[in-house]
Amino acid sequence: MINKIYNFSAGPAILPAEVLEKAQAELLSLNNSGMSVMEISHRSETFEKINQDAQNGIRDLLGLPHNYKVLFLQGGATFQFLMIPMNFLSAEINADYIVNGAWGKKAVAEAKRFGRAETIFSSAENGFKSIPVQSELKFNRNAVYVHYTSNETIEGVEFKYDLNAGEIPVVCDASSNILSKPIDVSKYALIYAGAQKNLGPSGVTVVIIRDDLLEKSPQNLPAMLSYQAFADHNSMINTPNTWGIYLIGLVCNWIKTKGGLAAMQIANEKKAQILYDTLDQTEFYRGHAEKSARSMMNVTFRLPSEELEKKFCAEAAEIGLDGLKGHRSVGGVRASIYNAFPLAGVERLIEFMREFECRNG
Ligand code: PMP
Repeated sequence: MINKIYNFSAGPAILPAEVLEKAQAELLSLNNSGMSVMEISHRSETFEKINQDAQNGIRDLLGLPHNYKVLFLQGGATFQFLMIPMNFLSAEINADYIVNGAWGKKAVAEAKRFGRAETIFSSAENGFKSIPVQSELKFNRNAVYVHYTSNETIEGVEFKYDLNAGEIPVVCDASSNILSKPIDVSKYALIYAGAQKNLGPSGVTVVIIRDDLLEKSPQNLPAMLSYQAFADHNSMINTPNTWGIYLIGLVCNWIKTKGGLAAMQIANEKKAQILYDTLDQTEFYRGHAEKSARSMMNVTFRLPSEELEKKFCAEAAEIGLDGLKGHRSVGGVRASIYNAFPLAGVERLIEFMREFECRNG
């Protein structure tokens, strides 16, 4: 690699070097076509295969049964905040929302424009430091779906279990932890994720949707707002993000060669564990999340003062530890350590943290 920066950015985030190298090698001439993937027609056989391979990559890694569709949309995860209620909510139909961070809060605010979206749980009062246990959650029996965010990227809190809502379809924003560990997909009716963390570049959103929920998508919606229309057209109602879909396929292959989601989980747990252990060994660094809610993907912490946090991020950047500044809404420090982030980068951060504390503690 030319660039030795360790990129801790929350997204767009680090991609596997092998993936970028393969994309680079194929950039000018994909499969000896003399054209780049960005230049070929999305209606060509070559691109149809890329589309299929990317879908299959996700299907295989998650072990998706046949009654799920994998769709590629645009508009980011944010667009899903409105597309989901637009497809399934109305003034007469209600949905439950679990709000355990800034993204869940945005999702419910959008849903309220379309129908009766009720927040059945919120950890706002404790500053989004916790994750509810399953028994704390009381669902409305007539909810058309329950929505939750499996990993809140800004606060760094993550569900350690697949939500079980009984008969109510579960809709999950998995933008920042999709493909980071095995999940029980049968528990979900819809999973969505902006690609720019664990899947590929920004500009493409993955939606995994179960047929029984898909069937509830009304026929009278404009095509670009309809899951049914996207499913009917194999995600190509219009020109899709061909480059993004191609990269998702490459990333899935990379995960497979590394041993799949079980191997991702082992590697991710190790990276997170040594970082959290470092936080726990000192009073100088204070983790934001409660221990039981700690995210494996986004490790958030504070230093004794905002000045020190600024200094910490600036000095870290100088030695090639980039993107550590916490989200502008909460401040502090955030180390995003997605699938592609190497263990050596976490070890380098820990070394820097110890040394910074010695000088400033
Ligand atoms: N949900 C979560 C959990 C996120 O982390 C993000 C982006 N960081 C979003 C939604 C919004 O995603 P996008 O920028 O793709 O709209």
